[in-house]
Order: sequence, then C-alpha cells, then structure tokens
Amino acid sequence: RVRSVLVTGGAGYIGSHTCKALARAGYLPVTYDSLQTGHADAVRWGPLVRGDIRDAATLAGTIAEYGPVAVMHFAASAYVADSIADPAAYYDNNVAGSLCLLNAMRAVGLDALVFSSSCATYGPVDTLPVTEETPQRPVSPYGRTKLMVEHILEDYGRAYGLRSAALRYFNAAGADPDGEIGERHDPEPHLLPRALLVALGRLPHLAINGDDYDTPDGTCLRDFVHVSDLARGHVLALEHLLRGGPSLRLNLGTGRATSIRDLVRAVERVSGRPVPCQISPRRPGDPPAVYAAPDKARAILGFTTAFNDIDAIAATAWRFLLTSAASHAQPPEERQA
Ligand code: NAD
Repeated sequence: RVRSVLVTGGAGYIGSHTCKALARAGYLPVTYDSLQTGHADAVRWGPLVRGDIRDAATLAGTIAEYGPVAVMHFAASAYVADSIADPAAYYDNNVAGSLCLLNAMRAVGLDALVFSSSCATYGPVDTLPVTEETPQRPVSPYGRTKLMVEHILEDYGRAYGLRSAALRYFNAAGADPDGEIGERHDPEPHLLPRALLVALGRLPHLAINGDDYDTPDGTCLRDFVHVSDLARGHVLALEHLLRGGPSLRLNLGTGRATSIRDLVRAVERVSGRPVPCQISPRRPGDPPAVYAAPDKARAILGFTTAFNDIDAIAATAWRFLLTSAASHAQPPEERQA
C-alpha cells in the first residue's frame, strides 16, 4: 500500500513542489491547506483537504482517514514585513497552529515531522557562511515564530519522542522545470518573481532596498536555492526520519552568494527584456549578506543542488510565468498596448 504523508501548506509554493517530489518518490501526498495563500489547482499529486491547522477536529479527522506515516509542515504566514505590522496573526498561525498540529500528531503516536524553518531564524550574522551553529537571533516576529517552533520541537522530542527535521531554507526561488507549478503570490513579495513581472511589463520597476551596503556591488547578497532542490531535500529528510534517524537541524542552501544586481541581470538575460530598477531606502533588519554553509545537509542527507546558477533558476521561473500569463485572459502585449 502506498504510504501517505500529510503535507500542511501543500497548496503553497514550496509545499506543492514537494508534493510532486513525494509522488515521484512513491508516496501519496495528502495536502491539508486553508488556501489562505495557496492554490487548489497546484494540488495535483494527491488529495486536497481544505482545513486550517488550528482546527483540531478537522486535522484529527484527516489524520484518521489517511493514516500518514509522517507529516511535512509548510503551512505558515511567511512575510517578514507583514509580521512586523501584525505580529498577533503570525504568532497565532505559526506558533499556535504548529502546537495544534503537534498535539494532533501526539494523540495518534505520529512521531516524524519535517518542518519549514528559515534562515530568518539567524537574523543578522557576524560570520559567513551561515552554519547550523551560527547563533540564532531573529529580528522579525516571523523569524521568531520559526525559532520558537524549533524550540518546541526540541522539547517535544525530549519529552514525547517526536523526531523532527527542521530545514532552514535560504531564499527559495524558481519553478518546476516541467512548468507544471510555480510561485504565485498576490501580492508577490519575493524578489525574483517581482523582477520577472517587471520584465513582463506587469510592474513598472523593481524596488531595490539599498545599494550602499558593504558588498561588491552595494546590493545585498543572498543564497537563492531552487524550489525543486528544496523539494528533494524534504524527501531525503523524510526518508532519514522514516529509517528511524534522529532529529536534524539543517541549512538548505547552495552556498553561493548572489547579489540583487546579479539577479536583475539574470532576469534581463533570460527574458531578453529590461528590468528598470529604483533604489529605495534600506529595510530595517535586512542583513547585508546571508548565504549558507550547505555541508551538513550534504554529509547527513546527501543533499546537493542541481541548480547552482541564478540564470538557470530564473529561466524556470520565467518559463512558468509566460505559461501562466498565456493561460490568463490578457496577454502581456495587449496590456502594454
Ligand atoms: P506559501 O504562502 O506559498 O505557502 C504556505 C501555504 O500554507 C499556503 O498554501 C497557505 O494557504 C497554507 N496555510 C497558511 N496558513 C495555514 C493554516 N493555518 N492552515 C492551513 N494551511 C495554511 O509559502 P511558501 O513560500 O511556500 O513557504 C512555505 C513554508 O516555507 C512556510 O512555512 C515559510 O515560512 C517557509 N519558508 C519559505 C521561504 C521562501 O523563500 N519562500 C524561506 C524560508 C522558509
């Protein structure tokens, strides 16, 4: 019988790509999603249960119905600026919601969880690259919610035997190389899709927050990791837990630093169109440079990234954007006319 995996947030960006990777690896991904930012049509590799992680009864019913062997927990509110404006919503969804999920797992003895953590748990760092031992001092409510859940997982591990893999992603980017799914947020806060929307003529310009940092070209350095690489990393972490492996805290990144200007140039190359930029003030709390030491995930899980070049990552996202733009009513050429 096919083993099912409960995927909270499986209708979202990283969750949907991971559902595809799970199906490829022979699992049945059961998506549990409120659709607050996700899309029902991104759920293609298994059933979709529409529910909120804070709804204990629906959660328990779903677990009873599908009998998953493990849980992958993507569901969260995930925007830093938003979390500063409305921390209550973030603590409620990300911390109280995670507790509700963990208690539903505990009630039936489900003891394996892969959790979406973030490089935002590190905050501004003194040394680079960022290793798993780099002190975690998040500066945003969003980063703090992720770190709080990591702490809760440690305590549940010690007391109740829950084994967890907290995967600290760096900047997820790109789209499914087959073009089936991609990133669709509205509004879109992430830089690569915003730059692509500028190339497409859907946004007038790209705002770059600060070009006077102490970096080679003055813009921030980030580690863009392809979403399908992240998805495979989740399957590796799941299999580690299903083999009875111990809890993990791992960075998932490429180890490469890409500047915001490099990213803009990559979008111009792959789209063949200009991306006008406007320099805005620095955002408080934005660290000048963040990139991962990816060695631990490689050593423990055999995790390597297939996409190591920002042009290749941008090309997958551009292809998805063109396909989804074509399937909507107004082609970009008409809109610009
Ligand atoms: P997303 O918004 O596309 O996906 C989140 C999904 O969770 C959505 O489908 C949403 O509808 C669902 N959801 C939210 N709250 C829910 C609730 N209470 N009950 C049920 N479903 C709920 O975001 P994403 O970019 O795919 O991020 C997925 C996870 O990865 C998040 O936990 C995020 O914090 C984390 N993360 C993302 C990045 C990144 O670069 N995108 C980096 C680090 C960590």
